[in-house]
Amino acid sequence: MPERASFLKSFFTVPLHDCRMKYVLLIVLLAVVFYKLTARRNERPAERKPAPPQDMVSCARCGLHMPASEALPGRGGMFCSAAHRAEFESANAKV
Ligand SMILES: [Zn+2]
Repeated sequence: MPERASFLKSFFTVPLHDCRMKYVLLIVLLAVVFYKLTARRNERPAERKPAPPQDMVSCARCGLHMPASEALPGRGGMFCSAAHRAEFESANAKV
């Protein structure tokens, strides 16, 4: 099959810039780049990590749970607010 042989020969010997293949390759390349960009964009929300766990404490007055960083330390434990701390401390002072 001389015709087929010449086709194969031309396929591998014709420079890429003279060939229609360059458009196909360009389109494939753009498709891959576009896919990678959109795939990465779609991954971002899933990659978002949840906030690191915090120590939870409960208010000695009302029992409300809150992160230790937001709690107010006082005599007798941790409190959710200055009002509860004052109530708890004044109640204990009476006794
Ligand atoms: Zn409280």
